Amino acid sequence: MTDEILNRDVGTIIVTTGSQSYEPLDTREYGYGLLPHVMTNAQFERLTNAAGPTHGKIKRPSDGRTPTSIAFLQCVGSRDARFERDYCCYVGCENSLKQATQIKEKYPDTDVTIYTMDIRTHGTGYEALYQRAREMGVNIVKGRASELEHDQIEDKIQVFAEDLYTGMNIGLTYDLVVLATALHPQTDNPEMARMLKMTTDQYGYFLCAHPKLRPVESFQDGVFVAGACLGPMDIAKAVAMGEAAAAKAQALMGPGKFNIEPIYAEIDTDNCIKCELCADVCPYGAPRLEEGVMMIAREQCQGCGTCSAACPQNAIDMKHYKTSQLMPMIEAAAKNEFSYADT
Ligand SMILES: Cc1cc2nc3c(=O)[nH]c(=O)nc-3n(C[C@H](O)[C@H](O)[C@H](O)COP(=O)(O)OP(=O)(O)OC[C@H]3O[C@@H](n4cnc5c(N)ncnc54)[C@H](O)[C@@H]3O)c2cc1C
Ligand code: SF4
Ligand code: SF4
Repeated sequence: MTDEILNRDVGTIIVTTGSQSYEPLDTREYGYGLLPHVMTNAQFERLTNAAGPTHGKIKRPSDGRTPTSIAFLQCVGSRDARFERDYCCYVGCENSLKQATQIKEKYPDTDVTIYTMDIRTHGTGYEALYQRAREMGVNIVKGRASELEHDQIEDKIQVFAEDLYTGMNIGLTYDLVVLATALHPQTDNPEMARMLKMTTDQYGYFLCAHPKLRPVESFQDGVFVAGACLGPMDIAKAVAMGEAAAAKAQALMGPGKFNIEPIYAEIDTDNCIKCELCADVCPYGAPRLEEGVMMIAREQCQGCGTCSAACPQNAIDMKHYKTSQLMPMIEAAAKNEFSYADT
């Protein structure tokens, strides 16, 4: 498909822009892009797909040969502080187990080995996938592969690793190596966050308003968020979040009107010098210059008061919490005229 720009007037927005697969060009020890017969799990997915270039037949792209031995290397670029990506990709293990069983179903005699620090199968059903892979004869080597080399005589890839079960250094050869690569946030997330007044975590994934109580809401009213743009997750969770976000958006728009905060910012336009500092500091994008006048979009203002504190002209008051109301309280407290016991 090609990109298409559509202009729409909308009442709510649900952000579901997903995440990106890491292209392991800077994980030099695995030789991706340098050695033949090394591919990512996303590329392998195309090989096993009936609609893919080989119609589902597993063949090495370099020479069209069906591999008789395949190694999967887990956590490529994940759980790796070198890339400031110390988190788990969440789906890499279950995907390798799925791909390994697919190989065994189609080509039962293939030697399939997964190199892993520890297999992480999140959620119901995935442990059964692990057991099934073991029963089908998939080998698991506990140990992160350290380096790959091309064996030019046999035209195979040699995988070096420490087998933590035996404490031995091993160097076995395979016809094909599949890298279970990390997932990382979309590179345009900061731009999108600025545009929609959303926030991102230390890695660049979007943050929801509350991880337990408001998992598909952003801090911005009317902007919802779901799926892998919040962090790595499997399809079932992404779909459930998408449906939850759609239900939340419908609940907001359905009645045709919605309640706004009773506490909101008000600008004294006679005092305002239009410096737009309030617009810069507001986390909700509520202050804006319209037709030469600074105004507050009431439906966006959450009454946090950040703009009021920043205004160099003291031109912003919070409804029901005006400076003229608050200052006497502070002065009285400072003079010790009342204590908490009196209130
Ligand atoms: C190699 C691999 C194997 C996997 N295997 C499994 C598996 O076996 N089982 C499983 O449950 N999960 C698996 N997953 C995870 C699964 O792909 C995700 O859980 C799922 O795709 C997340 O869905 P999503 O809708 O949030 O994001 P995505 O499916 O990534 O969809 C996001 C969409 O938004 C579009 N987009 C991005 N930015 C913009 C923009 N600015 N404007 C407009 N559109 C935009 C993208 O083009 C994309 O179409 C795998 C992932 C990978 C990478
Ligand atoms: S899901 Fe598996 S492959 Fe991915 S980072 Fe976690 S442990 Fe590593
Ligand atoms: S910070 Fe104060 S003076 Fe500056 S634009 Fe906003 S309301 Fe006006």
